[in-house]
Amino acid sequence: MDKIIIEDLRIFAHHGVFEHENINGQNFYVNAALYLDTEKAGMLDELDLSADYSKVCSIISRVMTENTFKLIESAAQAAAVEILKAQPLVRSVDIEIRKPEAPIDMDFRSVSVKINRGWHTAVIALGSNIGDSKSYISNAAKLLSEHSLIRNFRLSDLIVTKPYGYTDQDDFLNGAAVFETILSPHGLLELLQSAENNAGRTREIHWGPRTLDLDIIFYDQDIISDPVLTVPHPDMHNRLFVLEPVAQLVPYYRHPLLNLTVSQLLEGLKKS
Ligand code: ATP
Ligand code: CA
Ligand code: CA
Repeated sequence: MDKIIIEDLRIFAHHGVFEHENINGQNFYVNAALYLDTEKAGMLDELDLSADYSKVCSIISRVMTENTFKLIESAAQAAAVEILKAQPLVRSVDIEIRKPEAPIDMDFRSVSVKINRGWHTAVIALGSNIGDSKSYISNAAKLLSEHSLIRNFRLSDLIVTKPYGYTDQDDFLNGAAVFETILSPHGLLELLQSAENNAGRTREIHWGPRTLDLDIIFYDQDIISDPVLTVPHPDMHNRLFVLEPVAQLVPYYRHPLLNLTVSQLLEGLKKS
């Protein structure tokens, strides 16, 4: 991916954990790298087709001077998010903030933090079989579509399905959604769990009745397997109630482990 680089943008600001830093201020130096495709802009010589680095510098300056953060981590996070939201062609951004005047009582050149943030594609499954399922799902969809770290949210049609696993319970309403998000996979999982909790989700029977269930199906082409998160969802290819709505949204999305598209997985499951 092409890259636009801003180096050592000096900004006088008041971030720090000590009160004297918040009162007196000090110099911070920001490096930024913007990752985007500049081919069209380069061929047509058109600024609207690229990122406006002077606007990006203004965003960094505004975020750094209008806030007083304890941590340069927070300043970097806020700057990255504002850039990604204001410059839609930028896919991801590196932000490095240096603090050469940091209050360290030793001889040192600089202390800094460097982060990378970007837009990632997520596919999720939504399900409910207690109470007003349609409202639980549409409220969750609204919460996600209006979230500040999510854009281009699309919801599938909702389908009524028979329960899976534990079958002694009411029918389910199921759907899927695809969107772009700046959240990490674990950050997204936490957001989904807070949406489940808002819907009064309790966890008694595994695969049992629930007001709202939100599962991450895909996150880019990432493969994740740790104690709290498995992506792609390990059972998605065995579930018509997941594959059907996902295929409606992104039929050509490729499963990174099975190396088949969603529509191929759906055809395969229907045949078996
Ligand atoms: P299934 O995951 O088989 O559909 P479930 O949705 O009923 O079952 P839950 O009780 O909702 O399971 O979730 C149990 C745990 O699964 C969660 O606390 C979460 O940490 C973990 N988990 C692992 N991978 C995922 C994922 N891809 N999406 C959502 N939760 C996941
Ligand atoms: Ca589930
Ligand atoms: Ca779940």
